Amino acid sequence: MQSAFSKNELYCKKLYGGLLQAQALAKIGHWELDLVNNSLYWSDEVYRIFGLEPQEFDATYEAFLSFVHPEDVESVKSAYALSIKNKQGYYIEHRIVRKNDEIGFVEERCEHDFDSHGNIIKSIGTVHDITKRKSAENELILASAVFEKMSDGVLITDDKQRIIAINSAYSAMTGYKIEDIKGKTPNTFSSGWHDNEFYKNLWKQLNEKHHYSGEIKDRRKNGEFFSADISITALHDENGRLTNYISIVNDISDKKHKETLIHNLAYFDSLTDLPNRILFQERVMNKIPALKRSGAKMALLFIDMDNFKSINDSFDHFMGDKFLIEVAKSIQELIREEDTLARLGGDEFTIILEEVKSISDAAYVAEKIINKFKSPVIINGLELYTGVSIGISIYPDDGESYEELVKAADTAMYQVKESGKNSYKFFTKAMNDKIRERSLIENGLRSAISEGELFLEYQPKINLKTKSVYGMEALVRWNHQDIGLIRPDKFIGISEETGQICQIGLWVAKQALKDTKALHDEGNLLTVSINVSNKQLSDSSFIDDFCAIVGEVGVDRRYVELEITESHIMKDLDKSLSILNILHSKGLNLSIDDFGTGYSSLSYLKKLPAQTIKIDRSFVLDIDKDEDDRSIVATIIAMADALGKDVIAEGSETKEHIEALELLNCNQVQGYYFSKPLKIDKFREFIRNFKGEPAST
Ligand code: C2E
Ligand code: CA
Ligand code: CA
Repeated sequence: MQSAFSKNELYCKKLYGGLLQAQALAKIGHWELDLVNNSLYWSDEVYRIFGLEPQEFDATYEAFLSFVHPEDVESVKSAYALSIKNKQGYYIEHRIVRKNDEIGFVEERCEHDFDSHGNIIKSIGTVHDITKRKSAENELILASAVFEKMSDGVLITDDKQRIIAINSAYSAMTGYKIEDIKGKTPNTFSSGWHDNEFYKNLWKQLNEKHHYSGEIKDRRKNGEFFSADISITALHDENGRLTNYISIVNDISDKKHKETLIHNLAYFDSLTDLPNRILFQERVMNKIPALKRSGAKMALLFIDMDNFKSINDSFDHFMGDKFLIEVAKSIQELIREEDTLARLGGDEFTIILEEVKSISDAAYVAEKIINKFKSPVIINGLELYTGVSIGISIYPDDGESYEELVKAADTAMYQVKESGKNSYKFFTKAMNDKIRERSLIENGLRSAISEGELFLEYQPKINLKTKSVYGMEALVRWNHQDIGLIRPDKFIGISEETGQICQIGLWVAKQALKDTKALHDEGNLLTVSINVSNKQLSDSSFIDDFCAIVGEVGVDRRYVELEITESHIMKDLDKSLSILNILHSKGLNLSIDDFGTGYSSLSYLKKLPAQTIKIDRSFVLDIDKDEDDRSIVATIIAMADALGKDVIAEGSETKEHIEALELLNCNQVQGYYFSKPLKIDKFREFIRNFKGEPAST
């Protein structure tokens, strides 16, 4: 078959077809505008770019303009007009609106053909669909704006971890500019804070999950460390090839700093910087499981400074604070680094001694501490002496929980205080019984009065010369609903500590005065002695309350005597003196109880407004056998005589006691020889029958 085309034409047609194909691939269309006969040709690709089927409608310049985005029409028109005028080609990028209203971007280039006179006869142009590139560009512009504006630091590396970009937040955070670090890998300026294990884990996660996030210690250009939340993503292209790493870094050093501050406030004592109660408890509790596994022992020392209160009272609080700081330092120096010293509050310190091999390890530390404070604590050149009372409990022997251990050590410490301070004791089970009894008493006392469990007994006071009962001492007893009868020695001390003594004291006063009033009304004008403890005396309302009761019941004050122990008076002589003087001025009688045990001297005795001295029963006990006791009693009596005071001997149990006392001219006695304390009815009976001899029972 003969072809209609020459070989060359065929070749050209082939070439032309190839060109069209290439243009379609590259999304480039071409057009020709014949200015001589005003005809426009669009290639198929132009139609496609405008969203039309090839040759769908007639190509005209107006048709073309109708596809140009309305906002770009003017610039397209003027670009063309200008190029015609200047007889030059042009290049323009503009938007188009496709038939389906989709917006696209095209790039147009146009050149002109001229006739021999230089007039334009044809414009030939290309339309290149650059929508994809444009939107990628726009996305990039958007992304880079976000990148720059992000408040988190961003660092981007290539697949070889070479830094290619950082944003300004990253620069601000680290002090590095892109010039400083471009091309380097981040680990060339890493903080050196984390170990290899840390980075191994980081890379493992990045490789497996393509993402890592965690907290990291980083370093600024100036060398300063900072904490950061970091999140690293490994980016891959559509073929799964690693392209970049993007790290987003968030400086949390401020937050960390605040956290540390809060942590310190919550866990450390601000005065001494030692762990506080909470941290101490945590540490003890954290140790217990390991000890349980290993079977090792741990010692808990509970330390209380003996003199802190008086230091605090005699000087100012500043001194007290300094003292505690020094104490903390001194103790810290005596223990190993792995042992924890804590301050629980006030002058109470605790130590955990880890893994003590035997309990003598703990004793050794306690001794070291006690010895240390044999030398004074020196503050501003001032020598402050203090003793230390230490109680020790051992895990697991004395308790398996924090509470049990602290309680046991505290109990042991309390026993040290009871038995003279400045020493140490290990907790024993017997202490526990004591504690249990104590808490039983403490709790029971609250309702003792309201439940009517308290009652009084009266012990007669005898005048040996006149062979008569001249007075009585009121002694309180407690009939506990579970325990039964409890003697005052057991509960008065505790009630003094808890303050309940004030209430009890007023109950005793009221009851004793009522019974006395009844006796008086019956014609027995006896003196009643009521015991008053220090705590009651220091209660500001005691004197008024007491006097009010005396007035209310209607007993003549001359028959009322308060017994106050000598040791109580000597504890704070000046204060006691002023209180005793007030009581005296109110017309009440005073007696110094347990005299001889409180180390008072003649000069004090002279000042005391007390009318009576009651010789302590410890001197009476052996008075018939012991020469020394006899001479002490003789001296007391002589002294009292010289001061014009009365003397009574308590605890006179036997005929021999009575005879010895009579020989020494002590004519007033109280004791089992004549009578034990008696309930009021028995007491009445006793005085009714008294003939100067003990009742023959
Ligand atoms: P106290 O004031 O020295 O009371 C005397 C104690 O010696 C009483 O013990 C009494 O029963 C006991 N006693 C009496 N005669 C003899 C004797 O011949 N031989 C011996 N060995 N003891 C004798 P009680 O009643 O157990 O009182 C103990 C302490 O309790 C009292 O010592 C007193 O300090 C305190 N007390 C008692 N009642 C009260 C009270 O109502 N208020 C206050 N604040 N303390 C009280
Ligand atoms: Ca007494
Ligand atoms: Ca006494």
